[in-house]
Amino acid sequence: MSIANQKRVAIVTGGGSGIGLAIAEKFTTNKILTIIVGRDEEKLKKAKEKLGECCFAMPCDVSKLDCIPELIKNIIDKFGQIDILVNNAGINMKKEFTEVTDEEFQKIITTNLCSVFAMSREVVKEMLKKESGSIIHISSMAAQYGLPKVIAYSASKTAIDGMTRAMAVELSPKGIRINAIAPGFIETEMTAKALNTDPERKQKVFGRTPMGYMGKPDDIGEAALFLASDAAKYITGVVLPVDGGNSIGF
Ligand code: NAD
Repeated sequence: MSIANQKRVAIVTGGGSGIGLAIAEKFTTNKILTIIVGRDEEKLKKAKEKLGECCFAMPCDVSKLDCIPELIKNIIDKFGQIDILVNNAGINMKKEFTEVTDEEFQKIITTNLCSVFAMSREVVKEMLKKESGSIIHISSMAAQYGLPKVIAYSASKTAIDGMTRAMAVELSPKGIRINAIAPGFIETEMTAKALNTDPERKQKVFGRTPMGYMGKPDDIGEAALFLASDAAKYITGVVLPVDGGNSIGF
């Protein structure tokens, strides 16, 4: 398709809200044709209306791993190429360690980790044909230090950091850069759910964030735009904290 010849093509999973929407907005503002992927068609439709003609919405629940090869095939059929993949979709659950069921643990691992692997595998097959591309995973502070009551989430995000490095050493010689962003505490629905009912936890977050305030989704958008761009052409295998200093806070 002709648009794809003129523009870079990006996929942002979970692009209908929060951090994913901010990344998609940053991309579309910079003329990157951006396909937002998510479960909620209404949310995607609203996001598409907001982002305009550079944005396309493709509904897909990425935890249904079997659907991913077809999703990527459809994107290639329609747009001809994929230059950037942002694996942003994710879920969290705050619960006492002993209360977490195997099903709940598995659900978070499937959404936050297995889908990232399956999306990356299918997209890398395409990127290898051109020997270029940039993949960005979204990690978390839960992989930088121990956070109580988020056992499955912490396991999934720590695995993301390992996968970032393993993919980078294997794929960077073939022209594909792999990086991760580790957001600190960013104002989205996810953090509202985790912090607003737990003032002690909220205080702890502020207490160890040298900048003293929560980040905005747009802060992560800026970092993603940079990592996806040629300005970051010599950067691969990093997990970049965008966190107001939270990861190094006392
Ligand atoms: P959010 O809940 O606002 O957005 C997550 C998006 O992912 C939603 O649009 C949701 O519909 C989508 N999603 C979830 N499961 C999906 C699935 N199975 N298939 C398709 N889409 C799915 O949360 P957010 O805060 O914007 O989080 C985005 C990413 O950033 C997540 O990976 C999260 O772990 C990570 N993160 C967030 C923060 C923070 O402070 N908000 C901090 C660290 C990491």
